[in-house]
Amino acid sequence: MDFELTPEEKAFQKEIREFLDKECNENVVAETLSMEGEGPYSKELLRKMGANRLLTPRWPVEYGGRGMGAMAEAIKVDEINSHHAPFPLDGVEVGNALLICGNEEQKKRFLPGIARGDIEFALGYSEPDAGSDVASVQLRAVEDRDEFILNGQKIYNTEAHFSDYHWLLTRTDPSAEKKHRGLSLFMVDLKSPGITIRPLITSAGLRTNEVFYEDVRVPKENMVGEKNGGWTVIMNALYGGGGGGGLATGTKRVIDTLVKYALEEKQDADENQWIPETMAGLYIRTHVGELMGLRATAFADLNVSPPYGGGGAVSRLLGGDTRRLLYNTAMQILGPYGQLAKDSKWVPLNGEILREYMDAPRWTIVHGSQEIQKLVIATRGLGLPRR
Ligand SMILES: Cc1cc2nc3c(=O)[nH]c(=O)nc-3n(C[C@H](O)[C@H](O)[C@H](O)COP(=O)(O)OP(=O)(O)OC[C@H]3O[C@@H](n4cnc5c(N)ncnc54)[C@H](O)[C@@H]3O)c2cc1C
Repeated sequence: MDFELTPEEKAFQKEIREFLDKECNENVVAETLSMEGEGPYSKELLRKMGANRLLTPRWPVEYGGRGMGAMAEAIKVDEINSHHAPFPLDGVEVGNALLICGNEEQKKRFLPGIARGDIEFALGYSEPDAGSDVASVQLRAVEDRDEFILNGQKIYNTEAHFSDYHWLLTRTDPSAEKKHRGLSLFMVDLKSPGITIRPLITSAGLRTNEVFYEDVRVPKENMVGEKNGGWTVIMNALYGGGGGGGLATGTKRVIDTLVKYALEEKQDADENQWIPETMAGLYIRTHVGELMGLRATAFADLNVSPPYGGGGAVSRLLGGDTRRLLYNTAMQILGPYGQLAKDSKWVPLNGEILREYMDAPRWTIVHGSQEIQKLVIATRGLGLPRR
């Protein structure tokens, strides 16, 4: 298998890397690292990226993309992560689903705005009693002439406090025999009367939100797909975008930094004999994860789900696990000094590790927990029955 980037992909990588080297300044990085969500500097950067068609390289040219393949998307994600740039993943995920399930009017209304960096979406799937089992969603949508009236609660809707629209999964038929057949998907203006957004802060300091709906009215033309056909729409949103990441530039950079630190600071071979073995294990995992991600990305361009789980379940599983192990190992190598505050003069490696260590478990939950990724691999990939 040849994973060498094509000349067009190499040129795109160079372009976005040079762009972010120049434009992703310390104000943007500070906003990203604050974990409070996008602020004014991030918005400005996203608009500049949009003006250069760097946000949605895979979308058709008519909607603000470049008509490139899934590898361009992987390159974009890799560069954004490496530069600590803002990550407008939710809007792009919504756009991917709109390309498949939206009508022409919806595509024209939303896709160019997302591609320009003007329109942001928050994902509104999870509820207090519907996380892994997202088909259990209860937020009620009741038809009223040319509108629907919405009542209920969402939880962990991370980008809701700075987004323009909510990509909202609702229940339109509570009596459906199979619960996933009674769901509908809406795009709701987050400034609509009756919406209350309340902060929830994770142990790592990341801002996410609870969102409450009280008699909120949404026009019928904001429904995506058929009434009670929301399940098909979210399957396309969750698995239709294709690809599973791939390039692991940021992770490799952290490994290189740890190796350099260990060579300089951990010279007692007896005391530190666990380090080479652990680092070798991490190196192998990172490369396996990268290869699995690249493979999923290659399959995405063929419009085929990779074997052993659709939509990159394997690379999500490996990616989340590797990240957790990476920062666990980093904290062990740094020892107690790693726990010092970022502004302490004694903290090693600019105090970057603690924040990432605290945040690492997020990546084993947020795109579906590790158990759920395994379930996808077992049922979709291996054909085993669902419990
Ligand atoms: C930081 C953060 C950001 C998030 N952002 C968003 C967002 O923007 N929008 C959004 O809609 N959601 C978001 N989520 C929610 C996320 O998608 C859910 O947390 C996730 O799907 C798990 O759901 P849950 O928390 O309800 O856990 P549960 O589903 O209650 O699971 C609890 C435990 O049980 C296990 N489990 C559940 N079902 C099974 C099963 N069938 N077999 C085996 N084990 C099982 C799980 O693996 C887990 O370990 C976010 C979550 C976090 C932590």
